[in-house]
Amino acid sequence: MNWFPNYTCMACDGEIQTSTNTYLCSNCMSKLPITTEEQHGHFSPFVYEEPIRSMILKLKYASNGFIAKALAPYLAAVYLRHIQPTLKTAPIIIPVPLHQSRLRERGYNQSEIIAKELASYIQLPVFNNVLTRNRKTIIQKDMDATARAKNLHGAFAVIPDQIPKIKNQNVLLVDDVYTTGATSHECASVLRANGARNVTILTLASVN
Ligand SMILES: [Zn+2]
Repeated sequence: MNWFPNYTCMACDGEIQTSTNTYLCSNCMSKLPITTEEQHGHFSPFVYEEPIRSMILKLKYASNGFIAKALAPYLAAVYLRHIQPTLKTAPIIIPVPLHQSRLRERGYNQSEIIAKELASYIQLPVFNNVLTRNRKTIIQKDMDATARAKNLHGAFAVIPDQIPKIKNQNVLLVDDVYTTGATSHECASVLRANGARNVTILTLASVN
């Protein structure tokens, strides 16, 4: 008889038999692609490799909010160790927005879910309605960094009556994956242009 509860691994869907609260199998746990270094001006606890890649895809397309809850402590640790010591005043959290039509088709914005779970650890306010995505942008995989940046130019805006919320504030901009950085840098520049003091980019994972 098995006295331990059975869990399904969040990454590989394999069965876990354990007496402790773990949601990754030992194989996936041992392969977590942890990184603690700042990479080109942004921070991520993980490299975008397995098993994190599968977990983020499940969070993005399968509405698996539990994954955000499980990964939020890693984000919080990066914030507390590498970002908080560099700031004189506590930041506000702003998630990278989805276009309205994509939000309707998916039903949720994974970056808002990540931001909310992170905020529950570090007790910072989250503002979901400051940044807006004006244009639906199609990112082609073969676009280089310059083409992606050009494609995104003008895609984001700060809602005018929300400007006072970011004036002179430090902002922690939260997203799921940092690929070329075109999206997060475009959001950061729009926030700064509207009065944000300093924008730090924090994503769950970064493409190496
Ligand atoms: Zn696994």
